[in-house]
Amino acid sequence: MIGQSRSSQSGGSRCSDFPKYSIVVPVYNEEANIPELYRRVSRVMESLDGDAELILIDDGSGDRTLSMLRDLHQQDPRVRYLSFARNFGHQTAVTAGLHFARGKAVVTMDADLQDPPELILQLVERWQEGYQVVYAQRTRRKQEGLLKRGLAYGFYRILRKLADVDIPTDTGDFCLMDRAVVNLLNRMPERNRYIRGLRAWVGFRQTAVLFDRDPRFAGEVKYTFRKSLALAINGLVSFSIIPLRLSTYMGMAAAAIALLMMGLVVYWRLFEPNSRLTGFATIAIAVFFLGAVQLICIGILGEYIGRIYEDVRGRPLYTLAEAGGFEDLPHPQSF
Ligand code: UDP
Ligand code: MG
Repeated sequence: MIGQSRSSQSGGSRCSDFPKYSIVVPVYNEEANIPELYRRVSRVMESLDGDAELILIDDGSGDRTLSMLRDLHQQDPRVRYLSFARNFGHQTAVTAGLHFARGKAVVTMDADLQDPPELILQLVERWQEGYQVVYAQRTRRKQEGLLKRGLAYGFYRILRKLADVDIPTDTGDFCLMDRAVVNLLNRMPERNRYIRGLRAWVGFRQTAVLFDRDPRFAGEVKYTFRKSLALAINGLVSFSIIPLRLSTYMGMAAAAIALLMMGLVVYWRLFEPNSRLTGFATIAIAVFFLGAVQLICIGILGEYIGRIYEDVRGRPLYTLAEAGGFEDLPHPQSF
């Protein structure tokens, strides 16, 4: 088992026999999608104007994914793969792919063909026009449940309002990044990675290519509701401290309500001695209300402190159990 340190080891400009393009695809139990993915991506690789490599990152799959990656690598040396020692999550898998990609332009995309590989040609076109980040922006999500679409719609708009950087709405991790941007991302040490935010954070010239998001080609969605929620909270907390300020506001609002109630009670005592306002219900509601405000504030604080804790601990981002096609890189154990 190989510990992957936080340092970057992408050898970017080191060598001229590096491929011009890298396509990075995280795979987690995607045995039903891999053959079709390979077929479509390799067609795209052939129509690109330079060499390309396909880097597949097995995120601790329990199905035949890993053995399929081994076979693909055997039969086509342009395919390289990494295999995590356990499931570390999608964002970490993409991060590993970026560490090991060597192209001058790096494309990241999903394995389930919701991101059409053919769009890569358009992304590349814009890169050649001089953009350093070309992200694919979804115009429509086919066959995703109403609830998921609604939540995604709301979330991206809230994030856009709250975040310190301009994170475009409806963009996923399907994008093309220039080597300069990839090197910067690789140098970012943070553990909870929200790549589409970090990508916006670095700046440079960025542009969008619009596309319709296809339905999943095969298999089940791997992003459970819990994982999606974690990603959303991570996006918010990583790119905004406004939630912290929100606790201050909630405190102020509670204080204002308390003051108002005090005034009312004094008024009633003085001028309407017959009113019977106080009672168990009032007190119970006040106690629950204050308790709720305090717990929410502690929760918000906890989100930030948890992130500090994770970063301070400084554990490796991921552990690699196996890799194929990276013999010419320094041995991963030395990282
Ligand atoms: N994925 C992963 N690790 C995980 C979950 C998902 O590498 O723990 C990969 C998955 O194989 C796919 C991509 O992330 O290539 C997107 O997952 P999915 O299609 O399930 O999510 P969606 O974004 O479509 O909701
Ligand atoms: Mg998908």
